[in-house]
Amino acid sequence: MTSATRSLRRGGWLLLGSAIVAIAAATLIGQRPQPPNIVIILADDLGYGDLGSFGSPNIRTPRLDAMAAAGQKWTNFYVQPVCSPSRAALLTGRLPIRTGMYGVAAGTAPKVFRDNAAQGLAPEEVTIADLLKARGYATAIVGKWHLGQQRQFLPMNQGFDYWFGLPYSHDMRMTAPREKGLQSAAYYDPKPEYWNVALMRNGDVIEQPVDHRTLTKRYTEEAVRFINENRSRPFFLYLAHSLPHIPLARSPEFVGHSAGGIYGDVVEELDASTGRILDALKAAGLDRRTLVVFTSDNGPWLPFGAHGGSAGPLREGKGTTWEGGVRTPAIFWWPGTVKPAVVTDIGSAMDLFVTAANLAGAEPPADRVIDGVDLRARLTGSGSSPRHTVFYYWDSELRALRKGNYKVHFITSGAYGDGEPRREHNPPLLFNLADDPGERHDVAAAHPDVVADLVREAEMHRKNVVAGRPLFDELLPAQQR
Ligand code: MG
Repeated sequence: MTSATRSLRRGGWLLLGSAIVAIAAATLIGQRPQPPNIVIILADDLGYGDLGSFGSPNIRTPRLDAMAAAGQKWTNFYVQPVCSPSRAALLTGRLPIRTGMYGVAAGTAPKVFRDNAAQGLAPEEVTIADLLKARGYATAIVGKWHLGQQRQFLPMNQGFDYWFGLPYSHDMRMTAPREKGLQSAAYYDPKPEYWNVALMRNGDVIEQPVDHRTLTKRYTEEAVRFINENRSRPFFLYLAHSLPHIPLARSPEFVGHSAGGIYGDVVEELDASTGRILDALKAAGLDRRTLVVFTSDNGPWLPFGAHGGSAGPLREGKGTTWEGGVRTPAIFWWPGTVKPAVVTDIGSAMDLFVTAANLAGAEPPADRVIDGVDLRARLTGSGSSPRHTVFYYWDSELRALRKGNYKVHFITSGAYGDGEPRREHNPPLLFNLADDPGERHDVAAAHPDVVADLVREAEMHRKNVVAGRPLFDELLPAQQR
């Protein structure tokens, strides 16, 4: 053994020795070890089939693929079919029906908070940020909020110390001439001046209209800065990207980067961004005490064609309760704690609320129904996911239900009234998602017992759900926008 090796070894023992002393000292004076940091990276309208590791044939995502290989890739992870309900469910651990994330206005009820919404997620709802802030975490949202744009509903009133981003989607406040429906040329040749959306810091406008080509890069820089500023205390970072939601935009260095066209360019920039976040955690020595989750708020917006992403083998996309609308890529990464695996257990973005609370040593509120469950056992490899059911809502309608591998549909339709018309199914459709993830072969006739069981489960759920007051219908008068 050379003297260099000996001194290295001695150094290692010294380090180990001082770690034991530090843990013993913390125990003696009654301190708990510092709870882990939590980072949730949420893409907007990214489809199940849009990452290399989830089967994209033409979009390259080496950083996300490596993250999935070093951590867990979940192939049955669920969100809500559209933006505001999905964000509310993720942050509160509650089904959107309970928090009023729907509209009832005849015919044209909004499906999300519009740019003139009078309402927002009620400040009385408890978010992940509220829970973690109370445990001493620094909390930040970098990116899109979309849970009410009036001051009293902004992130600073929902547990976040810091916010840099947009109050809602960057396709709102359109100033370019709007042609019929989705056909507007503005979406396909997007210039920043076509939309008058404000970029905000803690509720103050810092740029309007925002140059959406800079968003991914600036969000990433803000996120990295927040990580570096909070090395010495636990933090919660919610990085809610505005893209690849339309209108698509990317930094100049990503123009023509991808074989997957402009949509591929945008996703490849998000991939590089995620790599920078992981690199920043490693450089700060925080990678072994940080859980990072990457997922999307809903499926791809298919009517936008080449600007709309792909659900891979799944049927349909955003705005529907088919699998393509609500099943998204999900990656969990925490070196040394998350046991590397491809996970086929069922999970939901609502489960992040309970999982984060438990990791931080916080109590989820006991005075309301929480729909999330704790995923820690599956993440560490000591057990399986306790989630066995998924309730698929569109507005206030329970349209489908999954239990185990079976899924029944009571009502189906295409996205936002496009394509397939609304259809009620009685008897319901039944699919076995294990061998038919594309929902092509209705097996209801062969399994009447399964159908009856799922119908019973749905009836019990409907009977017990207390719907919140619908919040999407209430709009500000034009002069207050
Ligand atoms: Mg979305």
